[in-house]
Amino acid sequence: MSDNKDVDNKNDEYEKYCYLCRRPESQGKLIYMPNNINICQDCMQKTFDSFSGGGMQFIDLSNLPNLNSNQFTPVNDIPNRQKVKKKKEKEKKQEEPELSLSSIPAPHEMKAKLDEYVIGQDYAKKVISVAVYNHYKRVLTNTMDDIEIEKSNMLMVGPTGSGKTYLVKTIARILNVPLAITDATTLTEAGYIGDDVESVLSKLLTAADNDVEKAERGIVFIDEIDKIAKKRNTNSRDVSGEAVQQGLLKLLEGAEVEVPVGAGSKNAMVPLATINTRNILFICGGAFPELEDIIKARLNKQASIGFSADLRDKYDGDANILQKVTMDDLREFGMIPEFLGRLPILFSLQSLDEDMLVQILKEPKNAILKQYQKLLSLDGVDLRFDESAYRAIAKRAMERKTGARALRAIIEEFMLDIMYQIPRDDDIGRVTITGDYIEGNGSPLIEMRGVLALEQE
Ligand code: ADP
Repeated sequence: MSDNKDVDNKNDEYEKYCYLCRRPESQGKLIYMPNNINICQDCMQKTFDSFSGGGMQFIDLSNLPNLNSNQFTPVNDIPNRQKVKKKKEKEKKQEEPELSLSSIPAPHEMKAKLDEYVIGQDYAKKVISVAVYNHYKRVLTNTMDDIEIEKSNMLMVGPTGSGKTYLVKTIARILNVPLAITDATTLTEAGYIGDDVESVLSKLLTAADNDVEKAERGIVFIDEIDKIAKKRNTNSRDVSGEAVQQGLLKLLEGAEVEVPVGAGSKNAMVPLATINTRNILFICGGAFPELEDIIKARLNKQASIGFSADLRDKYDGDANILQKVTMDDLREFGMIPEFLGRLPILFSLQSLDEDMLVQILKEPKNAILKQYQKLLSLDGVDLRFDESAYRAIAKRAMERKTGARALRAIIEEFMLDIMYQIPRDDDIGRVTITGDYIEGNGSPLIEMRGVLALEQE
Protein backbone atom coordinates (compact mmCIF):
# COMPACT_ATOMS: atom_id res chain seq x y z
CA MET A 1 0.00 0.00 0.00
CA SER A 2 2.64 2.43 1.06
CA ASP A 3 4.53 1.69 -2.15
CA ASN A 4 1.52 2.70 -4.16
CA LYS A 5 1.28 5.93 -2.24
CA ASP A 6 4.90 6.68 -2.96
CA VAL A 7 4.33 6.18 -6.65
CA ASP A 8 1.26 8.44 -6.53
CA ASN A 9 3.21 11.14 -4.73
CA LYS A 10 6.02 10.91 -7.22
CA ASN A 11 3.60 11.13 -10.12
CA ASP A 12 2.09 14.22 -8.52
CA GLU A 13 5.25 16.11 -9.37
CA TYR A 14 4.62 15.53 -13.06
CA GLU A 15 1.92 16.98 -15.23
CA LYS A 16 -1.00 14.89 -16.34
CA TYR A 17 -1.34 14.11 -20.04
CA CYS A 18 -4.13 13.84 -22.54
CA TYR A 19 -4.68 10.13 -23.15
CA LEU A 20 -5.03 10.71 -26.86
CA CYS A 21 -2.78 13.52 -28.03
CA ARG A 22 -0.33 13.54 -25.08
CA ARG A 23 -0.27 17.24 -24.53
CA PRO A 24 0.52 18.14 -20.93
CA GLU A 25 -2.05 19.72 -18.63
CA SER A 26 -0.31 23.10 -18.71
CA GLN A 27 -1.26 23.48 -22.36
CA GLY A 28 -4.98 23.13 -21.89
CA LYS A 29 -7.50 21.85 -19.39
CA LEU A 30 -8.03 18.13 -19.12
CA ILE A 31 -11.24 16.31 -18.46
CA TYR A 32 -10.64 13.63 -15.82
CA MET A 33 -12.22 10.24 -16.28
CA PRO A 34 -12.07 7.04 -14.26
CA ASN A 35 -9.03 4.74 -14.45
CA ASN A 36 -6.60 7.62 -14.67
CA ILE A 37 -7.71 8.52 -18.16
CA ASN A 38 -7.56 12.23 -18.94
CA ILE A 39 -8.66 13.74 -22.21
CA CYS A 40 -8.05 17.30 -23.39
CA GLN A 41 -10.95 19.41 -24.58
CA ASP A 42 -9.82 19.31 -28.20
CA CYS A 43 -9.74 15.56 -28.34
CA MET A 44 -13.06 15.34 -26.50
CA GLN A 45 -14.61 17.71 -29.02
CA LYS A 46 -13.20 15.71 -31.92
CA THR A 47 -14.64 12.56 -30.44
CA PHE A 48 -18.09 14.19 -30.09
CA ASP A 49 -17.84 15.54 -33.62
CA SER A 50 -17.12 12.12 -34.96
CA PHE A 51 -20.19 10.76 -33.16
CA SER A 52 -22.51 13.49 -34.34
CA GLY A 53 -21.16 13.26 -37.86
CA GLY A 54 -22.83 9.90 -38.34
CA GLY A 55 -21.00 7.47 -36.16
CA MET A 56 -17.48 7.03 -34.97
CA GLN A 57 -14.98 7.85 -37.67
CA PHE A 58 -11.79 6.09 -36.86
CA ILE A 59 -10.04 7.93 -39.64
CA ASP A 60 -10.40 11.12 -37.61
CA LEU A 61 -8.94 9.53 -34.55
CA SER A 62 -5.90 8.31 -36.41
CA ASN A 63 -5.30 11.87 -37.53
CA LEU A 64 -4.94 13.03 -33.99
CA PRO A 65 -1.42 14.17 -33.30
CA ASN A 66 0.81 11.53 -31.80
CA LEU A 67 -1.76 8.78 -31.88
CA ASN A 68 -0.78 5.80 -33.88
CA SER A 69 -2.66 2.63 -33.14
CA ASN A 70 0.40 0.42 -33.71
CA GLN A 71 2.52 2.17 -31.18
CA PHE A 72 -0.03 3.07 -28.58
CA THR A 73 1.13 2.90 -24.97
CA PRO A 74 -1.08 3.85 -22.03
CA VAL A 75 -0.14 7.23 -20.63
CA ASN A 76 0.62 5.71 -17.25
CA ASP A 77 3.46 3.75 -18.79
CA ILE A 78 5.39 6.81 -19.93
CA PRO A 79 8.64 6.90 -17.98
CA ASN A 80 9.15 9.89 -15.69
CA ARG A 81 12.11 11.15 -17.67
CA GLN A 82 9.71 11.85 -20.51
CA LYS A 83 7.19 13.76 -18.42
CA VAL A 84 7.09 17.46 -17.78
CA LYS A 85 7.51 18.45 -14.16
CA LYS A 86 4.80 20.69 -12.76
CA LYS A 87 5.77 24.28 -12.17
CA LYS A 88 6.09 24.77 -8.43
CA GLU A 89 5.34 28.43 -8.05
CA LYS A 90 4.67 28.64 -4.33
CA GLU A 91 7.48 26.32 -3.34
CA LYS A 92 9.91 28.15 -5.56
CA LYS A 93 9.24 31.43 -3.82
CA GLN A 94 9.98 29.91 -0.44
CA GLU A 95 13.02 28.08 -1.73
CA GLU A 96 14.50 31.32 -3.11
CA PRO A 97 15.15 30.82 -6.82
CA GLU A 98 18.59 29.59 -7.86
CA LEU A 99 19.36 32.85 -9.53
CA SER A 100 18.08 36.18 -8.28
CA LEU A 101 18.99 39.75 -8.99
CA SER A 102 20.82 40.02 -5.69
CA SER A 103 22.66 36.76 -6.19
CA ILE A 104 24.13 37.34 -9.66
CA PRO A 105 27.77 38.22 -9.13
CA ALA A 106 28.90 41.54 -10.64
CA PRO A 107 31.24 41.16 -13.65
CA HIS A 108 34.42 41.62 -11.60
CA GLU A 109 33.27 39.04 -9.06
CA MET A 110 32.34 36.64 -11.81
CA LYS A 111 35.75 37.05 -13.42
CA ALA A 112 37.46 36.50 -10.06
CA LYS A 113 35.54 33.22 -9.70
CA LEU A 114 36.48 32.21 -13.24
CA ASP A 115 40.13 32.97 -12.41
CA GLU A 116 40.03 30.22 -9.79
CA TYR A 117 39.44 27.64 -12.51
CA VAL A 118 40.40 29.00 -15.92
CA ILE A 119 44.01 29.98 -16.57
CA GLY A 120 44.85 32.90 -18.88
CA GLN A 121 42.18 33.97 -21.40
CA ASP A 122 41.75 37.24 -19.53
CA TYR A 123 40.03 39.02 -22.37
CA ALA A 124 37.57 36.19 -22.96
CA LYS A 125 36.78 35.97 -19.24
CA LYS A 126 36.08 39.69 -19.10
CA VAL A 127 33.81 39.65 -22.15
CA ILE A 128 31.87 36.63 -20.98
CA SER A 129 31.45 38.01 -17.44
CA VAL A 130 30.01 41.30 -18.69
CA ALA A 131 27.77 39.65 -21.28
CA VAL A 132 26.42 37.04 -18.89
CA TYR A 133 25.83 39.65 -16.19
CA ASN A 134 23.89 41.87 -18.58
CA HIS A 135 21.93 38.96 -19.93
CA TYR A 136 20.73 37.72 -16.56
CA LYS A 137 20.04 41.23 -15.33
CA ARG A 138 17.70 41.68 -18.26
CA VAL A 139 16.11 38.28 -17.81
CA LEU A 140 15.53 38.73 -14.09
CA THR A 141 14.16 42.25 -14.34
CA ASN A 142 12.17 41.44 -17.46
CA THR A 143 13.35 44.49 -19.32
CA MET A 144 13.70 42.56 -22.56
CA ASP A 145 10.27 43.77 -23.67
CA ASP A 146 10.36 47.43 -22.63
CA ILE A 147 13.48 48.42 -24.42
CA GLU A 148 14.65 46.45 -27.36
CA ILE A 149 17.94 45.21 -26.10
CA GLU A 150 19.74 42.66 -28.17
CA LYS A 151 20.22 39.22 -26.67
CA SER A 152 23.77 38.64 -25.56
CA ASN A 153 24.33 35.47 -27.60
CA MET A 154 28.02 34.89 -28.14
CA LEU A 155 30.40 33.49 -30.68
CA MET A 156 33.73 32.20 -29.37
CA VAL A 157 36.64 31.55 -31.66
CA GLY A 158 39.62 29.65 -30.28
CA PRO A 159 41.91 26.71 -30.96
CA THR A 160 41.12 23.19 -29.72
CA GLY A 161 41.76 22.72 -26.03
CA SER A 162 42.03 26.41 -25.22
CA GLY A 163 39.16 26.22 -22.74
CA LYS A 164 36.02 27.21 -24.66
CA THR A 165 33.82 24.48 -23.28
CA TYR A 166 35.46 24.72 -19.88
CA LEU A 167 34.74 28.45 -19.67
CA VAL A 168 31.05 27.93 -20.41
CA LYS A 169 30.79 25.00 -17.99
CA THR A 170 32.38 27.07 -15.25
CA ILE A 171 30.05 30.02 -15.85
CA ALA A 172 26.98 27.77 -15.71
CA ARG A 173 28.21 26.26 -12.45
CA ILE A 174 28.87 29.66 -10.90
CA LEU A 175 25.39 30.84 -11.81
CA ASN A 176 23.74 27.51 -11.06
CA VAL A 177 21.77 27.48 -14.31
CA PRO A 178 21.19 24.42 -16.50
CA LEU A 179 23.62 23.93 -19.36
CA ALA A 180 23.30 21.89 -22.55
CA ILE A 181 26.36 21.20 -24.66
CA THR A 182 25.85 20.05 -28.25
CA ASP A 183 28.06 19.40 -31.15
CA ALA A 184 26.99 21.20 -34.30
CA THR A 185 28.28 18.33 -36.42
CA THR A 186 25.44 16.10 -35.21
CA LEU A 187 22.78 18.56 -36.38
CA THR A 188 21.04 18.34 -39.73
CA GLU A 189 18.07 19.95 -41.37
CA ALA A 190 14.76 18.54 -40.04
CA GLY A 191 13.78 15.40 -41.86
CA TYR A 192 17.30 14.20 -42.62
CA ILE A 193 19.38 11.65 -40.71
CA GLY A 194 20.85 13.32 -37.64
CA ASP A 195 19.37 15.47 -34.89
CA ASP A 196 17.28 18.46 -35.84
CA VAL A 197 18.08 21.77 -34.19
CA GLU A 198 15.33 21.45 -31.60
CA SER A 199 17.16 18.51 -30.03
CA VAL A 200 19.41 21.16 -28.50
CA LEU A 201 16.50 22.36 -26.39
CA SER A 202 15.57 18.81 -25.46
CA LYS A 203 19.01 18.42 -23.93
CA LEU A 204 18.57 21.65 -22.02
CA LEU A 205 15.23 20.45 -20.69
CA THR A 206 16.87 17.23 -19.50
CA ALA A 207 19.63 19.25 -17.83
CA ALA A 208 16.91 21.22 -16.04
CA ASP A 209 15.22 18.03 -14.74
CA ASN A 210 12.37 18.56 -17.20
CA ASP A 211 11.50 21.84 -15.50
CA VAL A 212 10.47 24.14 -18.35
CA GLU A 213 10.84 27.34 -16.33
CA LYS A 214 14.38 26.47 -15.31
CA ALA A 215 15.33 25.47 -18.86
CA GLU A 216 14.07 28.80 -20.16
CA ARG A 217 16.81 30.51 -18.15
CA GLY A 218 19.57 28.13 -19.15
CA ILE A 219 22.62 28.24 -21.37
CA VAL A 220 23.08 26.31 -24.60
CA PHE A 221 26.62 25.80 -25.84
CA ILE A 222 26.96 24.72 -29.46
CA ASP A 223 30.48 23.50 -30.10
CA GLU A 224 32.21 22.98 -33.48
CA ILE A 225 30.06 25.69 -34.98
CA ASP A 226 32.62 26.12 -37.79
CA LYS A 227 31.54 22.72 -39.12
CA ILE A 228 28.18 24.14 -40.23
CA ALA A 229 29.76 26.75 -42.47
CA LYS A 230 28.30 26.95 -45.97
CA LYS A 231 29.85 24.20 -48.07
CA ARG A 232 31.74 25.63 -50.98
CA ASN A 233 31.64 24.12 -54.46
CA THR A 234 28.76 21.81 -53.80
CA ASN A 235 25.81 21.08 -56.01
CA SER A 236 23.91 18.91 -53.57
CA ARG A 237 21.61 20.25 -50.87
CA ASP A 238 23.65 21.46 -47.91
CA VAL A 239 21.63 19.75 -45.16
CA SER A 240 24.30 19.85 -42.48
CA GLY A 241 25.75 23.27 -43.25
CA GLU A 242 23.80 26.32 -44.33
CA ALA A 243 20.45 24.65 -43.63
CA VAL A 244 21.43 24.13 -39.97
CA GLN A 245 22.43 27.78 -39.67
CA GLN A 246 19.02 28.71 -41.07
CA GLY A 247 17.34 26.33 -38.64
CA LEU A 248 19.12 27.83 -35.66
CA LEU A 249 18.04 31.38 -36.51
CA LYS A 250 14.68 31.23 -34.83
CA LEU A 251 16.08 29.57 -31.71
CA LEU A 252 18.80 32.18 -31.34
CA GLU A 253 16.40 35.04 -31.66
CA GLY A 254 13.63 33.79 -29.43
CA ALA A 255 10.72 31.61 -30.37
CA GLU A 256 8.21 29.22 -28.89
CA VAL A 257 9.44 25.78 -29.81
CA GLU A 258 7.78 22.44 -29.19
CA VAL A 259 10.35 19.99 -27.97
CA PRO A 260 10.14 16.29 -27.25
CA VAL A 261 10.60 15.56 -23.57
CA GLY A 262 13.38 13.08 -22.78
CA ALA A 263 14.15 12.12 -26.37
CA GLY A 264 16.16 13.44 -29.27
CA SER A 265 13.43 13.62 -31.86
CA LYS A 266 9.71 14.01 -32.15
CA ASN A 267 7.74 10.86 -32.71
CA ALA A 268 4.36 9.53 -31.86
CA MET A 269 5.29 8.26 -28.43
CA VAL A 270 7.02 11.26 -26.99
CA PRO A 271 5.19 14.00 -25.08
CA LEU A 272 5.94 17.55 -26.12
CA ALA A 273 6.68 20.65 -24.06
CA THR A 274 6.74 24.23 -25.30
CA ILE A 275 9.90 26.16 -24.56
CA ASN A 276 10.36 29.84 -25.15
CA THR A 277 13.95 30.53 -26.18
CA ARG A 278 13.81 34.29 -25.64
CA ASN A 279 15.75 34.15 -22.38
CA ILE A 280 18.03 31.26 -23.20
CA LEU A 281 21.64 32.29 -23.65
CA PHE A 282 23.23 30.72 -26.71
CA ILE A 283 26.99 30.48 -26.88
CA CYS A 284 28.59 29.10 -30.02
CA GLY A 285 32.21 28.04 -30.20
CA GLY A 286 34.56 26.73 -32.81
CA ALA A 287 38.20 26.42 -33.81
CA PHE A 288 37.63 27.81 -37.34
CA PRO A 289 40.81 26.23 -38.72
CA GLU A 290 41.36 28.26 -41.90
CA LEU A 291 40.13 31.51 -40.44
CA GLU A 292 43.67 32.68 -39.69
CA ASP A 293 44.49 32.70 -43.40
CA ILE A 294 41.40 34.77 -44.15
CA ILE A 295 42.27 37.33 -41.44
CA LYS A 296 45.89 37.47 -42.57
CA ALA A 297 44.89 37.98 -46.19
CA ARG A 298 42.58 40.84 -45.21
CA LEU A 299 45.14 42.52 -42.96
CA ASN A 300 47.98 42.11 -45.45
CA LYS A 301 45.79 43.57 -48.17
CA GLN A 302 44.91 46.59 -46.00
CA ALA A 303 48.53 47.07 -44.98
CA SER A 304 49.84 47.13 -48.51
CA ILE A 305 47.43 49.75 -49.85
CA GLY A 306 47.74 53.54 -49.83
CA PHE A 307 50.13 55.93 -48.11
CA SER A 308 50.52 53.81 -45.04
CA ALA A 309 51.71 50.88 -47.16
CA ASP A 310 53.58 48.35 -45.10
CA LEU A 311 55.30 45.04 -45.63
CA ARG A 312 53.01 42.58 -47.42
CA ASP A 313 53.71 39.77 -45.00
CA LYS A 314 53.62 41.84 -41.83
CA TYR A 315 50.99 39.63 -40.17
CA ASP A 316 52.28 36.25 -41.26
CA GLY A 317 54.14 35.55 -38.04
CA ASP A 318 51.49 36.97 -35.66
CA ALA A 319 50.59 34.24 -33.13
CA ASN A 320 47.47 35.92 -31.86
CA ILE A 321 46.00 36.77 -35.21
CA LEU A 322 42.63 35.28 -34.17
CA GLN A 323 42.09 38.25 -31.88
CA LYS A 324 41.71 40.47 -34.91
CA VAL A 325 38.72 38.52 -36.20
CA THR A 326 35.74 40.46 -37.56
CA MET A 327 32.27 39.46 -38.68
CA ASP A 328 33.40 39.94 -42.30
CA ASP A 329 36.08 37.29 -41.88
CA LEU A 330 33.51 34.87 -40.52
CA ARG A 331 31.18 35.62 -43.42
CA GLU A 332 34.01 34.85 -45.78
CA PHE A 333 34.54 31.60 -43.88
CA GLY A 334 30.99 30.52 -44.70
CA MET A 335 28.77 31.71 -41.86
CA ILE A 336 25.63 33.39 -43.17
CA PRO A 337 25.04 37.06 -42.24
CA GLU A 338 21.67 36.39 -40.57
CA PHE A 339 23.31 33.84 -38.31
CA LEU A 340 26.19 36.13 -37.37
CA GLY A 341 23.71 38.95 -36.76
CA ARG A 342 22.13 36.93 -33.98
CA LEU A 343 25.45 36.40 -32.21
CA PRO A 344 26.36 40.02 -31.44
CA ILE A 345 29.22 39.25 -29.06
CA LEU A 346 32.30 37.97 -30.84
CA PHE A 347 35.58 37.18 -29.10
CA SER A 348 38.53 34.87 -29.35
CA LEU A 349 40.66 32.76 -27.03
CA GLN A 350 44.44 32.53 -27.20
CA SER A 351 46.26 29.32 -27.92
CA LEU A 352 47.90 28.08 -24.72
CA ASP A 353 51.69 28.20 -24.42
CA GLU A 354 53.95 26.02 -22.30
CA ASP A 355 53.90 28.34 -19.28
CA MET A 356 50.12 28.40 -19.29
CA LEU A 357 50.00 24.61 -19.43
CA VAL A 358 52.27 24.47 -16.38
CA GLN A 359 49.91 26.85 -14.60
CA ILE A 360 46.94 24.66 -15.58
CA LEU A 361 48.70 21.72 -13.95
CA LYS A 362 49.35 23.58 -10.72
CA GLU A 363 46.84 26.30 -10.05
CA PRO A 364 43.13 25.65 -10.74
CA LYS A 365 41.08 24.63 -7.73
CA ASN A 366 40.28 21.29 -9.32
CA ALA A 367 43.62 20.81 -11.12
CA ILE A 368 43.95 17.22 -12.22
CA LEU A 369 47.22 16.62 -10.33
CA LYS A 370 45.59 17.93 -7.15
CA GLN A 371 42.88 15.33 -7.63
CA TYR A 372 45.48 12.54 -7.74
CA GLN A 373 47.21 14.00 -4.68
CA LYS A 374 43.93 13.93 -2.81
CA LEU A 375 43.24 10.34 -3.85
CA LEU A 376 46.63 9.12 -2.66
CA SER A 377 46.44 11.12 0.53
CA LEU A 378 43.43 8.97 1.43
CA ASP A 379 45.91 6.06 1.47
CA GLY A 380 48.25 8.17 3.59
CA VAL A 381 50.69 8.72 0.72
CA ASP A 382 52.16 12.14 -0.01
CA LEU A 383 52.35 12.61 -3.80
CA ARG A 384 54.67 15.35 -5.05
CA PHE A 385 55.73 16.68 -8.41
CA ASP A 386 58.99 18.52 -8.84
CA GLU A 387 59.31 21.53 -11.12
CA SER A 388 60.94 19.50 -13.91
CA ALA A 389 57.95 17.15 -13.92
CA TYR A 390 55.50 19.98 -14.59
CA ARG A 391 57.73 21.23 -17.43
CA ALA A 392 58.10 17.80 -18.97
CA ILE A 393 54.34 17.19 -18.97
CA ALA A 394 53.68 20.63 -20.51
CA LYS A 395 56.34 20.05 -23.17
CA ARG A 396 54.87 16.73 -24.19
CA ALA A 397 51.39 18.29 -24.30
CA MET A 398 52.63 21.10 -26.57
CA GLU A 399 53.88 18.51 -29.07
CA ARG A 400 50.41 17.04 -29.42
CA LYS A 401 48.95 20.42 -30.48
CA THR A 402 45.59 19.83 -28.81
CA GLY A 403 46.02 22.44 -26.09
CA ALA A 404 45.19 21.51 -22.51
CA ARG A 405 43.28 18.46 -23.71
CA ALA A 406 46.56 16.58 -24.12
CA LEU A 407 47.42 17.06 -20.43
CA ARG A 408 44.88 14.64 -19.10
CA ALA A 409 45.90 11.90 -21.53
CA ILE A 410 49.59 12.28 -20.65
CA ILE A 411 48.97 12.35 -16.92
CA GLU A 412 46.74 9.30 -17.08
CA GLU A 413 49.42 7.37 -18.93
CA PHE A 414 52.04 7.72 -16.22
CA MET A 415 49.71 7.83 -13.23
CA LEU A 416 48.25 4.44 -14.07
CA ASP A 417 51.39 2.65 -12.86
CA ILE A 418 51.64 4.81 -9.76
CA MET A 419 48.01 4.32 -8.79
CA TYR A 420 48.37 0.58 -9.37
CA GLN A 421 51.64 -0.03 -7.55
CA ILE A 422 51.61 2.36 -4.59
CA PRO A 423 48.61 1.05 -2.61
CA ARG A 424 50.30 -2.40 -2.76
CA ASP A 425 52.92 -1.42 -0.26
CA ASP A 426 51.75 0.06 3.03
CA ASP A 427 55.26 1.25 3.87
CA ILE A 428 55.43 3.86 1.12
CA GLY A 429 55.06 7.34 2.61
CA ARG A 430 55.99 9.70 -0.20
CA VAL A 431 56.26 9.53 -4.00
CA THR A 432 57.97 12.29 -5.98
CA ILE A 433 57.42 12.41 -9.72
CA THR A 434 60.36 13.86 -11.65
CA GLY A 435 60.87 15.15 -15.17
CA ASP A 436 63.11 12.16 -15.93
CA TYR A 437 60.33 9.75 -15.02
CA ILE A 438 57.88 11.56 -17.34
CA GLU A 439 60.42 11.34 -20.16
CA GLY A 440 60.77 7.62 -19.61
CA ASN A 441 64.19 7.65 -17.89
CA GLY A 442 64.15 6.11 -14.45
CA SER A 443 61.45 5.78 -11.86
CA PRO A 444 59.77 8.10 -9.35
CA LEU A 445 61.48 8.80 -6.01
CA ILE A 446 59.95 6.68 -3.30
CA GLU A 447 60.41 7.33 0.41
CA MET A 448 59.36 4.92 3.12
CA ARG A 449 57.20 5.87 6.08
CA GLY A 450 59.83 4.81 8.59
CA VAL A 451 62.51 7.02 7.06
CA LEU A 452 60.15 9.99 6.86
CA ALA A 453 59.21 9.56 10.52
CA LEU A 454 62.90 9.51 11.51
CA GLU A 455 63.51 12.68 9.46
CA GLN A 456 60.67 14.43 11.24
CA GLU A 457 62.13 13.57 14.62
P1 ADP B 1 37.89 23.45 -26.18
O1 ADP B 1 38.45 24.84 -26.34
O2 ADP B 1 38.35 22.56 -27.29
O3 ADP B 1 36.42 23.43 -25.93
P2 ADP B 1 38.01 22.44 -23.51
O4 ADP B 1 37.35 23.57 -22.84
O5 ADP B 1 37.15 21.22 -23.73
O6 ADP B 1 38.62 22.88 -24.88
O7 ADP B 1 39.32 22.03 -22.69
C1 ADP B 1 39.66 20.70 -22.37
C2 ADP B 1 40.14 20.60 -20.94
O8 ADP B 1 41.34 21.31 -20.78
C3 ADP B 1 39.17 21.23 -19.95
O9 ADP B 1 38.31 20.27 -19.43
C4 ADP B 1 40.06 21.80 -18.86
O10 ADP B 1 40.30 20.85 -17.87
C5 ADP B 1 41.37 22.06 -19.58
N1 ADP B 1 41.56 23.48 -19.92
C6 ADP B 1 41.52 24.01 -21.16
N2 ADP B 1 41.80 25.31 -21.14
C7 ADP B 1 42.01 25.64 -19.85
C8 ADP B 1 42.33 26.86 -19.17
N3 ADP B 1 42.49 28.01 -19.84
N4 ADP B 1 42.47 26.82 -17.84
C9 ADP B 1 42.33 25.66 -17.15
N5 ADP B 1 42.03 24.49 -17.73
C10 ADP B 1 41.87 24.46 -19.06
